[in-house]
Amino acid sequence: MAFTDRILTCVDCGEDFVFTAGEQLFFHDKQFMNDPKRCKACKAKRSSGGSRVRAETRTTCSECGEETTVPFKPTQGRPVLCRSCFQKQPAKPVTEPAAAETHEPAEPVSAGTN
Ligand SMILES: [Zn+2]
Ligand SMILES: [Zn+2]
Repeated sequence: MAFTDRILTCVDCGEDFVFTAGEQLFFHDKQFMNDPKRCKACKAKRSSGGSRVRAETRTTCSECGEETTVPFKPTQGRPVLCRSCFQKQPAKPVTEPAAAETHEPAEPVSAGTN
């Protein structure tokens, strides 16, 4: 199958650009069904992350009630803190206290008084 250069129009800047035979062969090779939509310049601009939208979710801080955005999807029922409240949080111990059960008496100490 022979490919010939084609002129396509960039959806971003509206400029014509060449979809070369070599590129078509590459696309055919990779089984890409769609023609490229953007010229090289616009593609480079996009992949450089200039207009990448961060997935920020609007939510309300469960500590102070301020509206805040978080870079993740908050789980239902989980408290979400704004940046300042998050920094105010005391550092949680990473490990559970190993001897937790020894603090609670298993039996009443004052047994056998009668
Ligand atoms: Zn373009
Ligand atoms: Zn807060």
